[in-house]
Amino acid sequence: MYLVTILAFVIIFWQAEQPEHRLLLGEEDALWTLLIVLVQPPLLGVAAWLSARRALRLLTEQPDAPQVAQQSHHRTNVWLRTAIIVGFAVMVLLTRWPTWFTFENPALQTVGNLIVLSPFVVGVIAVWLAAYPLEKVIRAQTVDLVARVGEKQSKPWRLRAYLDFNLRYHLLIIIIPLTLILFAANMTQGYESVLQEWSGWAWTPDLLLGAVALGVFVVSPLILVRVWRTVSLEAGPVRKRLEAVCGRIGLRCRDILIWHSDGMIINAAVMGLFPPVRFVLLSDGLLATMDARQIEAVFGHEAGHVQHRHIQHFLVFALVGWLLIAGLMELVARASSEPHSLFTLSALTIQGIGVAGGIIFWGLGFGWMSRRFERQADLFGARCVTPSEAGCSLPCSVHPDEKTVLTGGGRLCATGAAVFASALNRVAALNGIPSEERSWRHSSIGSRIRFLTSLAGDPHRGARFERLIRRVKIAMFALAIIGSAVWLYYWAVVPEPAILRLQAGGP
Ligand SMILES: [Zn+2]
Ligand SMILES: [Zn+2]
Repeated sequence: MYLVTILAFVIIFWQAEQPEHRLLLGEEDALWTLLIVLVQPPLLGVAAWLSARRALRLLTEQPDAPQVAQQSHHRTNVWLRTAIIVGFAVMVLLTRWPTWFTFENPALQTVGNLIVLSPFVVGVIAVWLAAYPLEKVIRAQTVDLVARVGEKQSKPWRLRAYLDFNLRYHLLIIIIPLTLILFAANMTQGYESVLQEWSGWAWTPDLLLGAVALGVFVVSPLILVRVWRTVSLEAGPVRKRLEAVCGRIGLRCRDILIWHSDGMIINAAVMGLFPPVRFVLLSDGLLATMDARQIEAVFGHEAGHVQHRHIQHFLVFALVGWLLIAGLMELVARASSEPHSLFTLSALTIQGIGVAGGIIFWGLGFGWMSRRFERQADLFGARCVTPSEAGCSLPCSVHPDEKTVLTGGGRLCATGAAVFASALNRVAALNGIPSEERSWRHSSIGSRIRFLTSLAGDPHRGARFERLIRRVKIAMFALAIIGSAVWLYYWAVVPEPAILRLQAGGP
């Protein structure tokens, strides 16, 4: 859902850049535009209702295998999300819908953008409403499981609480920070010439917008902990244990928070680039259902993301992606505008090539890297719960006998790996995730457990894995530095890049 919401904003940004492009319906087709806008939410709602009814039927037909119904529900959800975003793209890029809410006043324009976004939000809510009867049943089963494992007893999920949860958890968390950036974009664009004249520099508005976006990104954890319901984890054995982990590995954060989700979420997260805005979140469902060692293992996984600087590496990855795509587009634009060129492409086609390149780069590269980073965090989490010699009862390369403790060189304690695997299994069971269900960002729970178990038995494999990650990180840094240097050089010597000339309508 996060990706879809981000894409909705990308579409709005894109449309604002070239408002007169790509229109399929003209001024006289106002009725058609209105129809396209109004018909989408009910259509989505009906589709979601049919899919939920099917899953409910599966649940009653096969009460022993709820995962069949859940899988069917997951699958149709992917299709529904795709339909939501494609429908929104059609409405914004091919009809006059966004031009109805274009204002002169840059501050007011953000309100206009939010009105343009509103059919998207209504569509998402329609899908949620239609899925409510099913979600309620699935939740009752989860709560049953949670109650059996932990001592917590939850009330049935009321419609209001359901919508409140979904709205906060899935939508507001993205909409609030992106609206701030959208506001900054409208202001810098609206006052572009004023800013340029005042500073005497053409790049001031762009730089200002970049600085605001970076600032929003940095402080977004402060927004997030307020949008999601969180409170500080009370002093007690769990907190003491986690603080001990922080001390041991040198992790600094502003607070450890409980994330209230009515027991809906059994998960943990860490956010924030810098200690003053960094929070570790443990959900109420997680705390209710796991024992202290398992909580420590999950916490260790999140700490692993921080200690290995995964967010920073994703930023470098994004920079590399941007440089590669911009370079590709410029090369194609140059080749196409040579006097004896074999092909001539319009600016729009080249943009399309750029978008396709971006999708391939992110779809393949980001997924691959994210899955490796998850494994690295798993390894870190498993190492966090490595017991002393006396506590290790399995044959392992860290504790080869009663007295020796060997560290480094890709070693992993088999007992630590087993504790971590038990935590992963529990997260999967309680969230209703089949252990072999593949995930773009995380890989399947089963494969993660197999990987950890194999490392515990084979330190060479661990060392190989750590070497691979190190090399990927170095290669990415090298690409980022070389790419930035080439880019700076190019902008310094080429008076007008081919892609800008094409966009301006030149030959
Ligand atoms: Zn993770
Ligand atoms: Zn061991």
